[in-house]
Amino acid sequence: MENFGVKSNAADVIFTNVTKVYSQQSIAVDQISFNVRAGELMTLLGPSGCGKTTTLRMIAGLEAVTAGTIVIGGSDVTHRPASDRDVSMVFQSYALFPHKTVFENVCYGLIFSGLSKTDAEEKAKLGLELVGLEHLKSRFPSELSGGQQQRVAVARALVLEPQVLLFDEPLSNLDAKLRRSVRDEIRDLQQRLNLTVVYVTHDQEEALAVSDRIIVMDEGKISQIGSPRELYEQPKSLFVANFIGDSNILPCTVSHSNKKEKVLTIGQVKIKKTDISAKNGSTSALIRPEHIKLTQKETTSALAGTIEKATYVGSKIEYNVATSVGSIFVISLSDHQEFRVGENIFLKLAPEKLNILDTR
Ligand code: ATP
Repeated sequence: MENFGVKSNAADVIFTNVTKVYSQQSIAVDQISFNVRAGELMTLLGPSGCGKTTTLRMIAGLEAVTAGTIVIGGSDVTHRPASDRDVSMVFQSYALFPHKTVFENVCYGLIFSGLSKTDAEEKAKLGLELVGLEHLKSRFPSELSGGQQQRVAVARALVLEPQVLLFDEPLSNLDAKLRRSVRDEIRDLQQRLNLTVVYVTHDQEEALAVSDRIIVMDEGKISQIGSPRELYEQPKSLFVANFIGDSNILPCTVSHSNKKEKVLTIGQVKIKKTDISAKNGSTSALIRPEHIKLTQKETTSALAGTIEKATYVGSKIEYNVATSVGSIFVISLSDHQEFRVGENIFLKLAPEKLNILDTR
C-alpha cells in the first residue's frame, strides 16, 4: 500500500505501576500498568476526569510521573523531558500556527528537529500527499474546514516519524457526519503505516470502531483491557458493561447442576450454562439487547413480560419490556415480527450470551 515514503518507527510502550498525584486531594492516575504493542492502536476510554489525558500526557513527557516507570521502545523515558522523547501528539484543538500556511505548519517541526530546509520540504510534501491535502498547501488554517485542519495536524505529527503517535480526542471539534470519515482515515493511516497509536476518547462507539485494544479507565484506575469485542461481549464489571454499549443487568442466582454445568436462575427461568466459572450464590448477569428474542410462544426457558414501549428506528425496533426482574431493553430487527404495547410476550435469553459479572 502507498505510504508516500513516510516511515514507521513504531515502538511499544510499557507502563509499570504509574501514579500521578497533582495534589493530596487529586490522585489522577493510580498505579496503572499496561503495555501497548508496536503497531497497535490502543484507546484510553472512560468518563470525564478518569485520568485519560493525564496518562497520554505522561507518555508525551508533558506531565511528570509521581511514581512508576514508562518504557518506550526498550528505553526508560520516565524522567526524560518531552523534547527527548520520540513521540508526537495531535491535540484536540489541532494547535496549528494561524499565520503560517499549511505547508509551513507541516515543515515547522521538521526544521525544528534539525532537518535542512530542502529535506524538510520534501518530507512535508510527502506528508500532505499522504493525507490528501497537497493541493491546499498554500492556504492558511483559517481557510480550511475543521476536517482539513485536523488532517494538517495529523500530517504534521506523522512526518516526524515518531515511535508513538498520540491523539487527544481528535474528533471532538468535528460535526457528527465528519467524525465517522475522519476516524476511518486515522485508522486507515495507522494500519497502512503500521504506527503505534495511543488514542484518547470518552466516546465508546468511536473507541470500538478505531481500536485494536481499549483500556477502560475509572477514577484513575484500569477497569479492563481488551479488544472491542472482548469488552463488549465479556465485560468483567458493571462499570465496563454500562459504559460500553447498551446492556441489561439482571439479578440472578448461580447454582450447581453437575460438575460440568451450572444453572442460572433469572426470575422464574432456569438456564443451564457450561462456560462459567462463577461461584454459587446471588449475583448479576449481563445480556445485550440484541441477544434477546421475543416470542408469543410460552416455554419454560423464556421469561414472561409485557411490552411497555415500542420504538421503530428504521432498521430495528427497540422495546422496553416489563418483567418480574425489572424492565428489559430489547432490540429486534424491523423485518422480524412486530409486537404492540400492552402485549404479553416471552423473552428468550441466549444462554451463550449471558455473562456473569464480577460484583462480589
Ligand atoms: P476529560 O475527559 O474530562 O478530559 P480525563 O479522563 O482526561 O478527563 P484528566 O484530565 O486526566 O481526566 O484528569 C484526571 C483528574 O486529575 C481529574 O480529577 C482532574 O480534575 C485532575 N487534574 C487534571 N489536571 C490537573 C492539574 N493540572 N492539577 C490538579 N488536578 C488536575
